[in-house]
Amino acid sequence: MDRLKGKVAIITGAALGIGRATAVRMAEEGASVAVLDMLVAEGEALAADLTGRGLSARFWRCDVTSEVEVERVIGEVAAAFGRLDVLVNNAGVSGASKPTHEVTEAEWDFVQAVNVKGVFFCTKHAIPHLRAAGGGSIIHLSSIYGLVGAADAPPYHASKGAVRLMAKTDAMIYAPDRIRVNSIHPGFIQTPMVLNALSAQEDGGAEAREGLVALHPLGHLGDPDDIAWGAVYLASDEARFVTGAELVIDGGYTAR
Ligand code: NAD
Repeated sequence: MDRLKGKVAIITGAALGIGRATAVRMAEEGASVAVLDMLVAEGEALAADLTGRGLSARFWRCDVTSEVEVERVIGEVAAAFGRLDVLVNNAGVSGASKPTHEVTEAEWDFVQAVNVKGVFFCTKHAIPHLRAAGGGSIIHLSSIYGLVGAADAPPYHASKGAVRLMAKTDAMIYAPDRIRVNSIHPGFIQTPMVLNALSAQEDGGAEAREGLVALHPLGHLGDPDDIAWGAVYLASDEARFVTGAELVIDGGYTAR
């Protein structure tokens, strides 16, 4: 309770999955939450659900690949809630899963546009508002795929490696402004991104799921809340000495 009391948080890609859980937990901890997504019905339903519970939330349609839209929406959030303290760069896509020599330029560009350029745009346009608030916390959703390789999704790996270092660079640049920048590195989490990929398989994904579970020493996949609580920590003043860090929440995937 109240770990984020008085703070205003933007969460991109907050209609589903990890972003949704993060929006819920942050609102429950006292933050005013701006739910940003391209999915209007789901985003509006989440904001209505939160406000119906007496929490502070509002939905904005925002495609993070559009700089004009990102700048406008972040300005509207800061005006509506009076300030900005937290940005969670969560919106992401998994993209093409095929060997590098088969990936098209369009497939490559699509993943970088959302996962890298979107993080750049949101960070760029949040900084003036965070500075005005006297500091803040920016959290990039990287991945275990930003730390170690796997033989599946080259554009995604490249994008998650990029945001890992974008967090460290901006941690250095904005430390004098008391703006902390960190990355979170989830293992496989049961969200639409993962569950839809599994259910698209011929056997409904049962065998692939078992294979994924086996990669996590704790013996199961993660839940969105496992990541949301990490984001709450990094957004809160409990993490006031934490910047440029990698918070790995992966059931032990990268421990081997
Ligand atoms: P998801 O696909 O379940 O949800 C992603 C959300 O982002 C959706 O609501 C979608 O509409 C939104 N989105 C997509 N493109 C957007 C755009 N251009 N502008 C605004 N919103 C957009 O994904 P998830 O599993 O919840 O993943 C969230 C983040 O965590 C992603 O960055 C993902 O790469 C990362 N991540 C996920 C896992 C996992 O196992 N689920 C593991 C590691 C990292």
